[in-house]
Amino acid sequence: MTQIRLHNTLTNRLEPLDPVHPGEVRIYTCGPTVYASAHIGNFRTFMFQDVLRRFLRSQGLRVLQVMNVTDVDDRIIQSAAAAGIGIREYTDKYIQAFLHDIDALHIEMPEELVRATDHIEDMVALIERLQEKGLTYKSDGSIYFRIAKFPAYGKLSKIDVHGMKAGARVDVDQYEKDDARDFALWKAPKPGEHFWETRIGPGRPGWHIECSAMAMKYLGDTLDIHTGGVDLAFPHHENEIAQSEAATGKQFVRNWLHAEHLIIEGQKMSKSLGNFYTLRDLFARGHKPSTIRFLLLSVPYRRQLNFTEDGLTQARNSVERLRNFVARLKTSQFPAGSNAEMLKRIDKAESDFDAGLADDINTAMALAAVFDLVRDINTAMDRGEFLQQDAVRALAATEKFDAILAVLSDTDDDKLANLGFSPQKPRMSAEEVDALIEERNAAKKRRDFKRSDEIRQKLADSGIMLEDTKDGSVRWKYK
Ligand code: AMP
Ligand code: ZN
Repeated sequence: MTQIRLHNTLTNRLEPLDPVHPGEVRIYTCGPTVYASAHIGNFRTFMFQDVLRRFLRSQGLRVLQVMNVTDVDDRIIQSAAAAGIGIREYTDKYIQAFLHDIDALHIEMPEELVRATDHIEDMVALIERLQEKGLTYKSDGSIYFRIAKFPAYGKLSKIDVHGMKAGARVDVDQYEKDDARDFALWKAPKPGEHFWETRIGPGRPGWHIECSAMAMKYLGDTLDIHTGGVDLAFPHHENEIAQSEAATGKQFVRNWLHAEHLIIEGQKMSKSLGNFYTLRDLFARGHKPSTIRFLLLSVPYRRQLNFTEDGLTQARNSVERLRNFVARLKTSQFPAGSNAEMLKRIDKAESDFDAGLADDINTAMALAAVFDLVRDINTAMDRGEFLQQDAVRALAATEKFDAILAVLSDTDDDKLANLGFSPQKPRMSAEEVDALIEERNAAKKRRDFKRSDEIRQKLADSGIMLEDTKDGSVRWKYK
């Protein structure tokens, strides 16, 4: 078995994977906050986790992965109240959407997908343990974790806690490093807000305690791997460490893996900045699930992924190249026999693929191994030097690659149909729209407003809305 090394945010080093329970890797993944549909930035991180778990399993390891669904937080409470429904009803619809999205992207379901609101009792019990140890205090009905009592505070995000004002508190779940303070474990109810009546008083959990309670409930006191996007390292994961380690006295997580962001026009894609695409936005623009899957997994997780139309085009071409290659292997007639050199070449591609992934899930290295092999085999086929048994061996290799890449079987139309898109009647493709927009720009430039209006109308008739932006460029959307 290949030695797997992963980068640990805690030590800032590559470390060999050394599971607590030999043969089984226990992973906790911070899942979606279900107050809106997830965007493709979120799926960048979820895709990395999918590649990780698929690779571990391909190496003969068992995986026990728990993903939480944050179905109670400030934004959820506000949005549900505005919609005049309960938080459970409000979040159900986004959980369903999330499940459809991960299915469309062939992201495997974790062994456990757990909702925060089903684990209030576990959170209360954990807060009680922290109370018994004298690590908490109450203020206005809320319960706070006193970070001055946990000397290791800051070890993950490397913040310097010296000089921090003891007793200063934050109530919001998300805040910046330079505002590190005692954080809320349990929040007193505000008028009109959803709350639970519990042994520690009425209220609702803070975000951080959710993950500590659920992670330890399903995976034990010490997990092998905890994953999330880089934005979660502080304060969320730092606070998870404080709560968990202060309660158990044991190391909470052996290896912290953080995915870099997906960015668009130089900025993090995020709901709050409004610069996001959901999967459905991209499907409506004619992009396929396999294209998006390939694009998201093609950039190693510790590198930022710059999301562009060009990247989508390249990803689509790469998937097509692989599918054409497999079709050629399956349908061509090759002379009988096998070629020892070629068999060795295929073995090498397989071991390079594994070596890439074993090196901190370096998908770029793994994909280079695949595409180099495709090129060499295509050349051998063109020259008539590729034989029947080589093809059998090559097909087995493509299956092995696809156990992780999961783009070969063309299920795109089925997945799109499941989501209510009708791939048989495609709308105007993104390329056609872009070409018309270019033509319209040219018409405007030569002051041919009749033509530019005609084009706008033609696009409108096809359900496409144009939006002229401040910087002079044009954005478009399907209505
Ligand atoms: P949320 O639904 O906001 O709780 O986020 C779910 C996951 O997506 C977390 O692991 C975040 O760190 C991650 N995430 C959020 N925005 C991005 C982004 N632009 N690129 C990559 N991961 C992201
Ligand atoms: Zn979490």
